[in-house]
Amino acid sequence: MKGTTYDVARIREDFPILRREVNGHPLVYLDNAASAQKPQVVIDTLDEYYREHNANVHRGLHTLSEEATTAYEEGREVSRRFINAGSLEEVIFVRGTTEGINLVAQSYGRTHLQRGDEVLITYMEHHSNIVPWQIVCEQTGATLKVCPIDEHGQLVWESFEALVGARTKIVAFAHISNALGTINPVRRMVEKAHEVGAVTVIDGAQAAPHLRIDVQALDCDFYTFSGHKMFAPTGVGVLYGKKHLLEAMPPWQGGGDMIKTVSFERTVYNALPYKFEAGTPIIAGVIGMAAAMRYLEEVGLDRIAAYEAELLEYGTRRLQEIPGLRLIGTASQKAGVLSFVMDVAHPHDIGTILSHEGVAVRTGHHCAQPLMDFFQVPATVRASLALYNDRDDLDALVRGLEKVRRLFA
Ligand code: PMP
Repeated sequence: MKGTTYDVARIREDFPILRREVNGHPLVYLDNAASAQKPQVVIDTLDEYYREHNANVHRGLHTLSEEATTAYEEGREVSRRFINAGSLEEVIFVRGTTEGINLVAQSYGRTHLQRGDEVLITYMEHHSNIVPWQIVCEQTGATLKVCPIDEHGQLVWESFEALVGARTKIVAFAHISNALGTINPVRRMVEKAHEVGAVTVIDGAQAAPHLRIDVQALDCDFYTFSGHKMFAPTGVGVLYGKKHLLEAMPPWQGGGDMIKTVSFERTVYNALPYKFEAGTPIIAGVIGMAAAMRYLEEVGLDRIAAYEAELLEYGTRRLQEIPGLRLIGTASQKAGVLSFVMDVAHPHDIGTILSHEGVAVRTGHHCAQPLMDFFQVPATVRASLALYNDRDDLDALVRGLEKVRRLFA
């Protein structure tokens, strides 16, 4: 694929679900920010794993267990490469972004925070990058601070600079906002946080399917994302952490695999990364996720980003032609999210009509209720793009919205 022009028709063939009809129409899948579809290679990898190799990992001496362990640990190397982590010990498999953030909040946050300390987040965070910090602040007496955004849905840099101070211990923020598509200036944010010695936690849930991630170039302390949004199965994700931080952190969950020896008097914990992977790990999920990462690398993340930017521009232009439609989230640096409201109908009615037309979008608060309050809307309609969407999908969306106008205006 690399080096050739972006052949979206060819890419669509890799995703069998895109051949489906919904309510008598070809499926137009524009709910990728919630969960993305799976290419045949991921489905085949899972199928083969369960048919040929299924066994528990790390403990068995028998052949199937060795095969499963090899494939699982290969998944760690593929994940390391995918985010350019410095070592395998820095790659921890988790259930998804939510679990990654909770792990950092409870293991790092709970041991390092005390009364008077501050955790800084932003106004555009997903609930899973708000609530874990509220919980740990309540547990430790630390204070949660929130950096404002402007009317385009961009971080207000001067406020961010002012809020990062001597009391700031943790700064947690989205790489890309799920509700707005805003791409945050994450490198600068990390640099600023490091000036005061704070650690940074990046929620990469919306970045992993769209951008090349390089945790060493970002110099972030923690980075986490979910497999299911990047064409891998549900129930698996990655937490990256800098080795010296992870080493000093206590385990979050106890159980099998995360120990070296156990007695009733004293337990010795396992080395990284296993210290943070208690219990039977997400074996099939990791193997499936590695297949998705390889697929993305083969298509080329830089090419995907360039293609999606062009598609976003087209979609933005088309939506702006619809009378009474207001885009929510108009940042200058934006990824493939088109969030909007219309004067004639509630987002839920719009979503229902679009579904009748075979168009899948998300309507609601997108797990970002404070953000909806900021824009003074109860909910938005969100069309979110992936590497297999094309202009026809956006044209179908626009036709659906024209129908909404005809029905409600
Ligand atoms: N952060 C962001 C920005 C998200 O978009 C999502 C998923 N909508 C999450 C966190 C939570 O991800 P998960 O549900 O896979 O844990």
